[in-house]
Amino acid sequence: MSHYDVAVIGLGIVGANAVYATARAGARVLAIDAGVPGAGTSGTSFAWLNSVRKEPEAYHRLNAAGMQAHRDLAKDLGDESCHHWGGSLEWADAGEGERELRARVERLARWGYAAEWIPRERAAAMEPGLDFPGHVREVTFFAADGWLDAPRLIQRLLTGATKHGAEVRERAPVRSFRSRGDRIEALVTDGGEIDAESILVCAGPATQAFVASLRAVVPVDQVPGLLAVTSPPGSRLDRVVHAPGIHLRPDADGGLLLGADDVDKLAVSAGASANLTELGGILVERAARVFSGARGVKVVDARVGVRPMPADGHTIAGRIPGYANAWVLATHSGMTLGALLGRLIAAEIGRGAPSAMLAPFRPERFATTASKGG
Ligand SMILES: Cc1cc2nc3c(=O)[nH]c(=O)nc-3n(C[C@H](O)[C@H](O)[C@H](O)COP(=O)(O)OP(=O)(O)OC[C@H]3O[C@@H](n4cnc5c(N)ncnc54)[C@H](O)[C@@H]3O)c2cc1C
Repeated sequence: MSHYDVAVIGLGIVGANAVYATARAGARVLAIDAGVPGAGTSGTSFAWLNSVRKEPEAYHRLNAAGMQAHRDLAKDLGDESCHHWGGSLEWADAGEGERELRARVERLARWGYAAEWIPRERAAAMEPGLDFPGHVREVTFFAADGWLDAPRLIQRLLTGATKHGAEVRERAPVRSFRSRGDRIEALVTDGGEIDAESILVCAGPATQAFVASLRAVVPVDQVPGLLAVTSPPGSRLDRVVHAPGIHLRPDADGGLLLGADDVDKLAVSAGASANLTELGGILVERAARVFSGARGVKVVDARVGVRPMPADGHTIAGRIPGYANAWVLATHSGMTLGALLGRLIAAEIGRGAPSAMLAPFRPERFATTASKGG
């Protein structure tokens, strides 16, 4: 029977980063996924690297550090091709929308985040295809933001980890565990048991169901979202744009990637009967109002991705309560946070070095709430 130092279960953006960081630190790593790496939520994500709506301050700082961790990772991999920096632009409706944006920009700038107002003429020079409504004299520019080609990065991470000796197994669901006392001794798969000194669960939206077999409480809800990919636009778009009712960015294959929070809700309420291409059409219509290059594009793909959403909205990272050698990472904003979380958890598992930055995000906070309530 094979024996590993660390078994990482789930190879989305979070697990793939953890695999890379643990293998790079010298551990003998098994990387295992029920399907194909990157085909879970990480394959259907807007993948905006940012910390512009992350509250409170500790969560904002975690996300800002996540962006820096991506920059470090690209250098470490010697490959900048998965990361598309260049910042993001945002504007709001007149009235309450603009007041909220002004307050947010002021707060972010105070926290040291790259957030500023620029004249619409400068924004138009950066993105000539954008059409700003008349009331918009200034646009917000978040200069440090970017977007991630996540499927490509996941491949790069796993290839890099393999060079450090990691073994990758796909289409191999972990069914259960063999445990003794507070230790998990082996993973149970269809192909037999696999021994590992430590396990790390990175199962994304499947986390809650998965750890239920360990009688552990790691509350992660599933929040679906719709994204539409279009045919190539008539003119270039170079960065992430948030306008009222629509967000858009370039897609890795040359089209546009479109989303909108209220259309997510339409897709959810229509359930299985939702006509996703039709909903994608609504997104194209809205994109065409703010970006001339979107006029005449076609929806080539419309897909629902399922966000892993911790019960309080914030990252869950650390030992699974009740176990000495089992760990979990589950988070929304996993694109922004994956590189950082992978690195921090690798240090915790490998060197027993608890991260102060992760202190507010431990799984125990849910157990505490439950016992207080009860
Ligand atoms: C529409 C949408 C927009 C988003 N926009 C952004 C954004 O702009 N910025 C941002 O930072 N984040 C964004 N997110 C969130 C981000 O995409 C997720 O947080 C991230 O993809 C989660 O990655 P993960 O690795 O945890 O999960 P996943 O990518 O789902 O990976 C989990 C893996 O675990 C595997 N697995 C599950 N059960 C088992 C088992 N029993 N055995 C073995 N393997 C198993 C699955 O096969 C899967 O491959 C968005 C998400 C959605 C849906």
